[in-house]
Amino acid sequence: HIPVICIDGPTASGKGTLAVEVAHELGYHYLDSGSLYRVTGMAMRRQGLTPEPAHEAQIAALAEGLPLQFVKGRVLLDGEDVSDLIRTEAAGMDASRVSTLPAVRRALLALQKRFRQLPGLVADGRDMGTVIFPDAPLKVFLTASAAQRAERRHKQLISKGISTTLDSLRADLEARDARDSSRSVAPLLPAQDARRLDNSALSIEQSIDQVLNWWQD
Ligand code: C5P
Repeated sequence: HIPVICIDGPTASGKGTLAVEVAHELGYHYLDSGSLYRVTGMAMRRQGLTPEPAHEAQIAALAEGLPLQFVKGRVLLDGEDVSDLIRTEAAGMDASRVSTLPAVRRALLALQKRFRQLPGLVADGRDMGTVIFPDAPLKVFLTASAAQRAERRHKQLISKGISTTLDSLRADLEARDARDSSRSVAPLLPAQDARRLDNSALSIEQSIDQVLNWWQD
């Protein structure tokens, strides 16, 4: 069986950084499942659609046929590098809203499973351990306080020259958390067999070491 490590958790908990580093250490592939919802949201807007149940079938059809490529850490949509465009807060909100549509989640299921290739995969998202790879031998549920997460996201955006305030970021991510954990399909909940990791007071290196130690157990 092809090994897979799932790293799930709320928005801005540091899943992406941790998953990339663990994949790098182990020489595994990496799946950023959130980017699939973000690209779907972007494709939706470009078709003049909105993230509403009335458009569910059309958005799901878009998700099913996304002309998507991952090249050297960049996300290409129909050949166009959309990596930065999908990182805005507005794109995150759209992603969160399209992700509540069951037909969209179903449309992205097979695509996500195809990332499981030798020598192994590290997958980050919300439902990697609960829905996409339920048989994964290691599932990590990563958390950090809302204040910590807002601060990290703030630094990230500032470094990219995007101006926001801490307060609006924190409000945004709390709204997103609430929607992600209360939705009826694939709510953000730890898998029963997930290991909890609160990284509020940990350095990135300490988090990586913890996951690698669990993996070696
Ligand atoms: O992880 P990221 O912030 O890029 O994800 C964007 C949005 O996509 C999340 O707020 C969440 O609603 C949704 N998502 C999801 N399932 C995943 C990954 C992301 O529902 N596996």
